[in-house]
Amino acid sequence: NYLSNSRFTTQAEGKSIILDTLKLNLAGEWSKKYTAEPHLAGTNYGLVEWTKEKFEEYGFEATIDAYEIFVSYPNDHDLNLLKASTEEIIYKAPLKEDELEEDETSKGDDRIPTFLAYAANGNVTAHYVYANYGRKEDFEKLAALGVDVKGKIAIVRYGGIFRGLKVKFAQDNGAVGILIYSDPGDDHGITVANGFKQYPHGPARQESAVQRGSVQFLGGIGSAPGDPTTPGYASKPGVERQDPYVSIGRIPALPISYREVLPILEKLNGQGIKLEDKSWKGELEGFDYSTGPSEEYTLNLYNDQIFNISTLWNVYGEIEGEKKDEIIIIGNHRDAWIKGGAGDPNSGSATLLEIARALGALKASGYKFKRTIVLQSYDGEEYGLLGSTEQGEYFADKYKRKVVAYLNLDSSTTGKYLGLSASPVLNHVLRESAKELEYPEEGVGSLYDHFVKEKGDKIRNLGSGSDYTVFLEHLGIPSADLGFGQGKGDPIYHYHSNYDSFYWMSEFADKGFVYHNLAAKYLSLIIFNLSEKEVINFKLQDYSKDLITYYNQTIATVPKSWFKGKEIKDEIMQQYLNYDLEEEQYIIDATDGYYSPVAYYPFPELLTQRQCKHNKVITMMDTHHHKNFTLGRLIHKTYKDLLKLDNITSNFDVESFILQTKFDNKDGLSFWQKIKLHFQIKHHNKLIQYFERNFLYHKGLYERPWFKHIIYASGRFTGYEGQTFPGLKEAIEDGDFERFVEWLGIVSKTIKRLSVKLSI
Ligand code: GLU
Ligand code: CA
Ligand code: ZN
Ligand code: ZN
Repeated sequence: NYLSNSRFTTQAEGKSIILDTLKLNLAGEWSKKYTAEPHLAGTNYGLVEWTKEKFEEYGFEATIDAYEIFVSYPNDHDLNLLKASTEEIIYKAPLKEDELEEDETSKGDDRIPTFLAYAANGNVTAHYVYANYGRKEDFEKLAALGVDVKGKIAIVRYGGIFRGLKVKFAQDNGAVGILIYSDPGDDHGITVANGFKQYPHGPARQESAVQRGSVQFLGGIGSAPGDPTTPGYASKPGVERQDPYVSIGRIPALPISYREVLPILEKLNGQGIKLEDKSWKGELEGFDYSTGPSEEYTLNLYNDQIFNISTLWNVYGEIEGEKKDEIIIIGNHRDAWIKGGAGDPNSGSATLLEIARALGALKASGYKFKRTIVLQSYDGEEYGLLGSTEQGEYFADKYKRKVVAYLNLDSSTTGKYLGLSASPVLNHVLRESAKELEYPEEGVGSLYDHFVKEKGDKIRNLGSGSDYTVFLEHLGIPSADLGFGQGKGDPIYHYHSNYDSFYWMSEFADKGFVYHNLAAKYLSLIIFNLSEKEVINFKLQDYSKDLITYYNQTIATVPKSWFKGKEIKDEIMQQYLNYDLEEEQYIIDATDGYYSPVAYYPFPELLTQRQCKHNKVITMMDTHHHKNFTLGRLIHKTYKDLLKLDNITSNFDVESFILQTKFDNKDGLSFWQKIKLHFQIKHHNKLIQYFERNFLYHKGLYERPWFKHIIYASGRFTGYEGQTFPGLKEAIEDGDFERFVEWLGIVSKTIKRLSVKLSI
């Protein structure tokens, strides 16, 4: 019963059960199992069933959820360097990684070929140019230098932005094909040139290592993550399919190693333009980073893949809590580019099973969770966040209504340095939970001390590149992404290459699977701390503070000329004022006390007061006429609205604390006081739960309607990296004054509306 203390196990005991269970560390065992066989998206039903069985074994109710998704599988490829005049082959790239004696996973016929998923089929022969990272600005630079990319094959290095956008920009600039290679210059000094030995004899990159990956246009203009044929809706059998070429490219592409690119790039030495600019150069020896092209040489690039609609499988495991309408989801993808994938994603998959085991032990002790805990194992993340996006689209209504937070675990361990990215409401619980654990190295102190020392306590913004994207950017659900990544002293991570293997993990990255284990403890505590407090454990002011910072950063980039003599025409002002912020009924209901309908609500006066206040303020906002506005004044108004929101969230957090304290000491309260407290907390919790939903804009971002969040989006030119206030920033980037004013209206109305809700 909600009002009585009938728990079999107390919360303090609950934590000890979790941590005691994880004194035994089985992560290595799970890692071994997951990395023993190939599990490219849609190809390994055995591991699907096995994962389901493990969830069940640990007391979760488990289900398999299938989607029919458009994907591509490697069939054939070829890459040749030719003498242009005679078409004689000078060099044939092996397009295969070396088999290493020590590393089992690097051997065998079941290795997955080097390829870039969704890259178009084609066989092209053309001259070629070097285009640095293949970013928008790199192609602009080539154009400015008079180096024509049209009709040529672009060669770009990995890094900077998501690889799919490299393909998009190459294609947009007229390239007929693209090669993407890994340059040692991007290996943070852990290079052979600096005296480090190559894997498996040392920490440097193995020279034949190739980064596979998807070249879907993640985050790019017009695109949406998930199945490229079903943007915005789920790929269940029989659904209508759209043209996928908005989200995928039309030119062939291949990934290669630095050993393979060298003989090709060498031929450009002294050809075209040689840039002295450091940001244009990697650290290949023998290549001087000239742009090319060379009249004398061409490349023949052949890519053949099988494109079809395949079945992909997600696995879910659930422990139902007392509150069925407050769900915490922990997600991890299961598919990998290679047979191994010990880091990506199976360090996360192993950690997820350890979390399942710990929470399962708690459940077995008789403990009843307050909130509902759901573990999710996705298929097809690698291809473009397929499994997570499709289910997010399928369960959109349910998730928006019921999910409290989403915790993403992709690679839990590829190094020893904790990395955190999150919606700011989660910062508090991430920090507090880190304080409860010891860092495994002597003298460092807590995991939190380590984070402060190494990362300056900086929790980053979410962009894209993993499965949280649909939760945060499409559904407005507070999300976090965490894991241990590389830093000083860590070996090079062979991302998406055959050498992301069990051997590499157990011999180089995480001997004894200590960091896997720490990740499991950390996440289990976060889940516990989020789930078990009666008042949802978010700090809203952490969000409003960050909003002020983002806003100031954004405004600082507004062109000076926009402040002077630019007239804000009546139609634009109309756009600014237009109350066009549709919001979902459940958010309104939560504010109006719908969850305690009048009939059952013991304090009807309270409810009507709330409703009156709400309506009055909204009406005031609607009818208030703004005259003679300058851009400066509009910008300042929003700033003041943000300050006000900050004040309100500060009070709100105090109220959260008071309510939680009352709840913790409720034994002394009378029956009616308890009932009252119950309704107060219920109302308060709904405001907390839906806080971030308020930032969803039903029309979505400019030219990217799938992206609904007005504070966070993946950058349209970067893919991975997050963008804050994307509507405003994009208008500035595009030099579109009118759109900027319109977005200022959207932002200001959202902030005001939220302030009203939180203060009633
Ligand atoms: N995490 C994967 C990658 O970085 C998938 C990203 C995507 O294609 O959406 O390649
Ligand atoms: Ca879809
Ligand atoms: Zn991954
Ligand atoms: Zn990956």
